[in-house]
Amino acid sequence: MSPSMFDVAIIGYGPAGATLANQLGQLGMSVLVLEKDAEIYPLPRAIHFDGEVMRVFETAGLRTPMEAISRPGHKGMYFNNAQGETLLIRAGTSAHGPHGCANNYYFHQPELEQVLREGVKRFPQVVVRTQHEVTAIEEVDAHVALQVLDITTQSKYTVHAKYVVGCDGARSLVRKVLGTTMMDLGLHQPWLVFDVLLNDNAPELPDHTVQHCDPARPMTYCNVTGNRRRWEIMLMPGDDPQELVKPDTLWRLVSKWIQPEHADIERAVIYTFHSVIADHWRKGRLLLAGDAAHQTPPFLGQGMCAAIRDAANLAWKLEAVLLHGVEDALLDTYQSERAPHVHAFIDLAVKLGDIIQTTDPEAARARDAKFKAGQPEIFQFPAPKLGAGVWVNDHPLAGQIFPQPMIDASSHKGLDQVLQNHFAVIADPDLLQAVDADTLESWQHNQVVQVPWTATELHAWFVQNKVAAVLLRPDRYILGVAQNSQDLMQLTQQFPQQTKAVH
Ligand SMILES: Cc1cc2nc3c(=O)[nH]c(=O)nc-3n(C[C@H](O)[C@H](O)[C@H](O)COP(=O)(O)OP(=O)(O)OC[C@H]3O[C@@H](n4cnc5c(N)ncnc54)[C@H](O)[C@@H]3O)c2cc1C
Repeated sequence: MSPSMFDVAIIGYGPAGATLANQLGQLGMSVLVLEKDAEIYPLPRAIHFDGEVMRVFETAGLRTPMEAISRPGHKGMYFNNAQGETLLIRAGTSAHGPHGCANNYYFHQPELEQVLREGVKRFPQVVVRTQHEVTAIEEVDAHVALQVLDITTQSKYTVHAKYVVGCDGARSLVRKVLGTTMMDLGLHQPWLVFDVLLNDNAPELPDHTVQHCDPARPMTYCNVTGNRRRWEIMLMPGDDPQELVKPDTLWRLVSKWIQPEHADIERAVIYTFHSVIADHWRKGRLLLAGDAAHQTPPFLGQGMCAAIRDAANLAWKLEAVLLHGVEDALLDTYQSERAPHVHAFIDLAVKLGDIIQTTDPEAARARDAKFKAGQPEIFQFPAPKLGAGVWVNDHPLAGQIFPQPMIDASSHKGLDQVLQNHFAVIADPDLLQAVDADTLESWQHNQVVQVPWTATELHAWFVQNKVAAVLLRPDRYILGVAQNSQDLMQLTQQFPQQTKAVH
C-alpha cells in the first residue's frame, strides 16, 4: 500500500532520479518516483564518470555492479591537432586514485541506469511508477500536489509529497513551475553523435579518448566499453543535418579510422550541446537536480557526474529536514554549494570547447603554436570547493571533497565503508581522547563516526596536509578542519548550530 503522503516525490527516473531514489531509500524515506517513459532510454548518451561519482555509487552499495558494467580509463584524453600532434592531455588514471578507485570510468548509460534501478528494488518504501507522467504541480499548505497521467490507462490522479525533486531532464516541467530563468554560459553548438559496435575484423583503435582538433572538422573519438566506440562530430557551416546521419556520410566522416565492414551502426543523432545553469534550484518545496538544473557540453564527460553530485548533496539535507526536524533553510545551501561547483566544471568544458571547436585555420595555427611552445600541457579535473553552505570557511581544505584512503589494505576496505551515510570526525587518536564530555555527547547524539587516523594512508594525508582533525559531512565534503582539541570542540559546537539536530 502506498502512503497518502510521500516524504519525497522524484519526477524523472534518469541517472539523477535513480541515484537520489537509492540514497533516500537507504535513509529510510518514503519516496515516489514518477517516470513517463516505459523503459530506460535505450541509446547511449553519457559514457564517462569520475572517481568521486564511483564513491557515491559505493556509498549507495552499488560499487560492485557498477564496476561490472564499466571499465577504468587508464589513458586519459588527448587533444591532437590536424597533424596528429598532441597539444594537451587530460591525465589518465591509476587503479587506486584519491577516491579509493580509478579516477575515470567508461560505461554505456542504459547499463548504468539499469544498475541504479536494480538498486532501488532493495527499498520497499520506494515506489516506482513508470509510464506515469506528471502534468501539473501545485504547492498546497505544507505539501505538494502532483497531477499524474497514467499513460497505460489514460486515467488521471493526484498524489501528495512533502518535497518534490525535479530530476526531469533538460526540458523540465518542475523548472517551468519553479519559474526560474537560466544563466547562459555561452556555448550552444550542434554535434553529431555516432555510436558503432566494432566487428572482430576492426583495426586497432586508440584506447584513450582523442579530441581531434582539426579546424576543417573537429571530432572526438572515444573507446566506450567492449566493442562500443563513439565519434562526436561537430557540425560545420553548410552541413545538411539530414545528410549527415545517412550511413554513407557517416562512414565517410570516420573513414580515417574504420570502414563500413568493420562495424555496425548503433545510432547517429544530432544533439545541441548547451552550457546553462538555472538561476534558482529551489522554490519552497520544489527542487531541481541534474539536467533540469544545469547542462554542460560533454567535452569533460561531466553532465551526469554533476547530476550524481547533486543527489549526494541533497540526500542528507532532505533527511535532516524531513526525519530530524532541521529548519528547511538548510535546503537553500543545496544551490549555494552546488551551483558554483557546477559552474567551475562548465567553465572548463566551455574553455576546452573553444580549443576543440576552432574552425578558423589561422586561429587553429595560433592555437597549435601556443600549445606546442612548452607542451603538451597535462591537466587534471578541477576539484572546486563548494559554494557557501554547511562548512566552516577558515581553512583552504574546508568545503573540499575528502579523499578515500584505504583503512585496511589487506581487505581492500576503504574509508567510505566505515562512514556509510554518517557525519564523521577523523583525528589524531590523542585528540579524540582529549575532547570534553559535551563534545563526545554531541558526536554521539549526531551519530558522528569517530575514526582515529592510524591507518597508513589516512595518517599520510593528515601529515601531508598538516592538520590534526577533520569533520566530514555524509557526502564526504570537509565541514571543518581542527589543529587541536580546542579547535575540535569549537568546530563541534558550530557544526550542530549549522545543522542543528541533523541526526
Ligand atoms: C551525447 C551526450 C554525451 C554525454 N556524455 C556524458 C558523459 O560522458 N558523462 C557525463 O557525466 N554526462 C554526459 N552526458 C550528459 C548526461 O547524459 C546527462 O547529464 C544525464 O543523462 C542527465 O541525467 P538526468 O537524470 O538529470 O536527466 P535525464 O537522463 O534526461 O532523465 C530525465 C527523465 O525525466 C523523465 N521525465 C521528464 N519529464 C517528465 C514528467 N513530466 N513526468 C515524468 N517523467 C518525466 C524523462 O522521461 C527522463 O527519463 C552526455 C549527454 C549527451 C547527450
